[in-house]
This record gives sequence, structure tokens and C-alpha cells, in this order.
Amino acid sequence: MLRLYNTLARKVEDFKPLGEVVKIYTCGPTVYSFPHIGNYAAYTYWDLLVRTLKADGYKVKRVLNLTDVGHLVSDGDEGEDKLEKGAAREGKSPFEVADFYIDVYMENYAKMEFLPADVLARATDYIEADERAVDEMTAHGYTYETTDGIYFDTAKFPQYADFARLNLAGLQAGARVGFSTEKHNVSDFAVWKFIQPGEKHAMRWNYLGRPGYPGWHLECSTIIHETLGEPIDIHTGGVDHIPVHHTNEIAQTYAMTGKDLARYWLHCDFVTVNGQKISKSLGNTYTLDDLADKGFSAMDYKMWLLSGHYQGTRNFTFDSLTAAKNRRLNWRNRIALCYQVSEEQRQKLSEELHFAEILAAVNSNLNSAEAFALIDNLDLTLADWQRIDELFGLRLIADTPDISTEQYALIEERAAARTARDFAKSDDLRDLLKEQGIALDDAPNGTIWSYLE
Ligand code: AMP
Ligand code: ZN
Repeated sequence: MLRLYNTLARKVEDFKPLGEVVKIYTCGPTVYSFPHIGNYAAYTYWDLLVRTLKADGYKVKRVLNLTDVGHLVSDGDEGEDKLEKGAAREGKSPFEVADFYIDVYMENYAKMEFLPADVLARATDYIEADERAVDEMTAHGYTYETTDGIYFDTAKFPQYADFARLNLAGLQAGARVGFSTEKHNVSDFAVWKFIQPGEKHAMRWNYLGRPGYPGWHLECSTIIHETLGEPIDIHTGGVDHIPVHHTNEIAQTYAMTGKDLARYWLHCDFVTVNGQKISKSLGNTYTLDDLADKGFSAMDYKMWLLSGHYQGTRNFTFDSLTAAKNRRLNWRNRIALCYQVSEEQRQKLSEELHFAEILAAVNSNLNSAEAFALIDNLDLTLADWQRIDELFGLRLIADTPDISTEQYALIEERAAARTARDFAKSDDLRDLLKEQGIALDDAPNGTIWSYLE
């Protein structure tokens, strides 16, 4: 039985699907700059969630959005649109910026072995649906107009504070100073922004008789409405989404449809680097390419992420990444050992599968850390490793092919040289295999090979 920590209830609950197909939505990236390693935390843990559901036998429909409009640098209603900012920085149009970083994301998704989403929804493909959504909210009395947009009146939704357990009175009091906008309540938010005369905003659509663009939160409610239908089973995101973005999604969806948005809400915590927030000014915004330059693959980094629990802050250091890389090499060489056992041993081992224990650990609120500890200590067969690879997407087997018949022949030739006490030849053959990335270990009942890297 899969159990998940549900932010809605603030506790671990049994997962009970709403229908035949488990509907999942993940808030995706804003495609305006190179993603840093922290950005992969969510996608890694939610990829594990989908893989776990599949291992448990569920059918899954998963939607991931790509934010290419409306996400302002403040995460709220002030400041420049991140895409417009990227466009100014790169001397391109915001659409070109989005195209470029979507390609970057897709390349990195493949490197990280994430299962492709069933629907990859680009926010700008849903503008008409956004307009219909605003119409619905307005028809139901949830919005008001100001000079700079259409705002959601959070006072009209009494449950607004519930999801994030917000202290609205405190927020309101704290915001009095400098609270000079036309908003009725400090927690109100724009569902649609008008572009003022002279304002530079290349992404624009005519709605309500003037140019404008959707508010950031709207796209998720709209895309879910169009692609999955409410309520969905599981909505995922980062902990930073709880107080504003997800709170606003819930309010919008209720205002549009009168329905709850999702049954289970999952949030992962942040990655820090050397104990500090990832930020440009600290120079610790590593990308996957930066890690590759230092000799670490995307799979090493995924091993690092999965060695911890999604709900804890993960502190990244190169020492801990080295440990994750070594652990992965150790696992690969245990797979290599599976190729070297006798048929008789293989038969004996295959009667004793351990995968169920590993899946049980992951079913317990995605405890990949505990599952990894089990993998370290259990005696596993190739069949177990195949299923482990499917569950975590770590490319363990693909990166650990059996060696060639020529290489096996070299190992035998070396054994013969050793028997003949021709140590010079034996050493030469060992060196030859070493050049091919293969190490040899002389055990009492024969020579064992392993990968050096
Ligand atoms: P974006 O909209 O592309 O800026 O996505 C940023 C999202 O990535 C945030 O909302 C977070 O949920 C997540 N994120 C950003 N920094 C980190 C971090 N250091 N660790 C984990 N997740 C992060
Ligand atoms: Zn969202």
C-alpha cells in the first residue's frame, strides 16, 4: 500500500486513487534561464512517484507544464515578467528564449532519465482557456478589475487561508506600510494583467478590449482543467509553492468549477549548497554541465538526490556527490558480479527475489533513502536489479554491459599465464584490460572483473 505525506492533511495517508487512471500534475519550470541542480530535485522525486505508482500497478496520466509567460520576478504581481527579462538579456524575443530553454530542459530531462510526461503543456498554448477561466471566475463573482489587471478577491473564498494555514490578519497588518495598490486585500492576486500604454511586454493577447497576459498562477488551474479535469489525484511542487502559488491555484479552481483541485498535495524541500541557499551572488548555482565538467554524470547526481528523503533539506557538497558516485559504481559492479556467477548459483539466487522489500520502502512515503540502504545490504539478482533500474531510472544495467568474449578470452589467457608462472605476460594482460576500463581481482576460486569507472 502506497502511503504519502499529504500537505493538505499535514500527515502521511494511505493513497486511494479517485478513478481508473491516477491523474498527476507537476508545476514545471519557468523557461527563461539555465536550470541549476536544485531545480532537478522536484523532477527527480516526482519521477520516482510516477515510477512507484507504475510499479504498484497503477495507470498514470501525468501533466507537466512549461511556464513561458506571466511568471514575474517577484513570484507575485510586481516586477518584470521573467521571460521578458530573459529576452532583454539575450537580445531575443521571449518566444525564442522559451524555445531555447525548453530545448535545454528536454535535453537535461533525458540525461536525468525522467519518464516523459503524458502531456507537456506550454502556458502560451492555453491563453484562450485562460480567458474562459477568468470569465468563469468573474461570472461567479470572484474577481474585480483595477487599472493593472483582473484580480482574484480572496475575501470571497473563505477557505483561502486553509491550505497553507496562513495568518491573513497578520499578512494584512504587515503589509499596511507601502500597500498602495488598488488591491482589496493583501492576499488578492492578478489572474490577468493589462499591459499599460508604453509598457514593454512582447507577449500580449487581446482580451477585454486591451492587450494583456495571464497571471502566473492561472496557467496551472487552466491546464489541469483542460487536460485532466478536477479533482486530480496528486498535485506536486516545491515547498515554496505552498503559501502563494498552490494556495492561489486552489482558489481559482474552486471559483471556476466549484470543485477541489487535488486530493493529495506533495511538496519537496530545497537543496542547499555547502549549507547555503543556491544563488548567483554566492556563485553556487551549479548546472548539470558544471557537474559533468568535474567528472560527475547526471546519474551520479540523481543517486545523490535519491539518497535522501524528498521532505528534508538536502545539503549538496562535492564530497557527498563523490560518495553517491562511488555507491553507484559499487552497485554497477554488483551487477557485473551477477554476470559472473555460475548457472547453478544463478538458479539458486533467482528463487529469492528482494525487490518487494525495496518497493515497500519506497511505498512508505517515497523513502528512497531507506530503499537505498536496503539495496546496499541485500543479496540481489539480475532480476532484482532490472526492477530497481525501472523504479529509480538510474541506468545501472545499461551502463554496465557484460564484457566481450574477447575480454573474457584475455582473462583466461592471463589465468593460463599465471599458471605457467609467466608473470610478465599476466601483468601485461592486466594492464591491457585496465586500459579498457576493467579491473581484475584474483579470488580463491577464480578471477573477478569489475568496472573501474
Ligand atoms: P522556476 O519556476 O523555473 O524558477 O522553478 C523554480 C522552482 O524550482 C521553484 O519554485 C522551486 O520549487 C524549485 N527550486 C528552486 N530552487 C531550488 C532548490 N535550491 N532546491 C530545490 N528546488 C528548488
Ligand atoms: Zn503550478
